Amino acid sequence: MPLCRVLDERQSVYVDRHFPQTLSKADGYRYRVILGVGGNIGDTRRRMNHLWHYLGKLPQICRIQSGVILKNPPFGFHEQNDFDNTVIEIATSLQPRALLRLIWRIEKRFGRCRSFANAPRTLDLDILFFENYKVRTKELTIPHPHWSERLSVTIPLESLA
Ligand code: AMP
Repeated sequence: MPLCRVLDERQSVYVDRHFPQTLSKADGYRYRVILGVGGNIGDTRRRMNHLWHYLGKLPQICRIQSGVILKNPPFGFHEQNDFDNTVIEIATSLQPRALLRLIWRIEKRFGRCRSFANAPRTLDLDILFFENYKVRTKELTIPHPHWSERLSVTIPLESLA
C-alpha cells in the first residue's frame, strides 16, 4: 500500500514499491542521466513500477535510483486528471540523441499516443539532465526547460540520495 503525505489540496507525495529506490553503482557506462517520468491516464503508479522493472531489462541503460512520486495538477491544458511525476537516475553510454530515440520507443511501448501539446498521457519521459551537458537543438533542450520552477521535478529530485 503506497504511503502518502498531503502537501495541499492538489498535491501529495507518494512513496510506492520502487519509488524511491536506490540500487548499487553502475560501472561500465559513460554518462549519468536524470529522467523525468510522468503520466495521468489509468493506474500511473502501477505503470511506473512496471517501467522500473522494464528499464532493468534494457542493456543500453543501468538504473541507479528513483525518487518519490508527486501527484500534482496539470498545467497548460487543465481539463484532465492530475499527474503523477517522479525522476529516475540512470547510467548509459548512449549519446543524448540516441537516448531520446530510446525513450520515444519506451513511451510507445507504454501506450503513449501523441495528440496535442500538454495532452493526457500514459507515460511521458524527459531527459532532465545529461551529465552537466548543455544541449540546444531542434529536438532536444538539456537541461530540460523550466525544471527548476516545477515542483513535479524538484520534489522528486530532492528525494534522490
Ligand atoms: P513531450 O510532449 O513532453 O513528450 O515533449 C516531446 C518533445 O519535446 C519531443 O519532440 C522532443 O524532441 C522535445 N524535447 C526537447 N527537449 C527534450 C528533453 N530534454 N527530453 C525529452 N524531450 C525533449
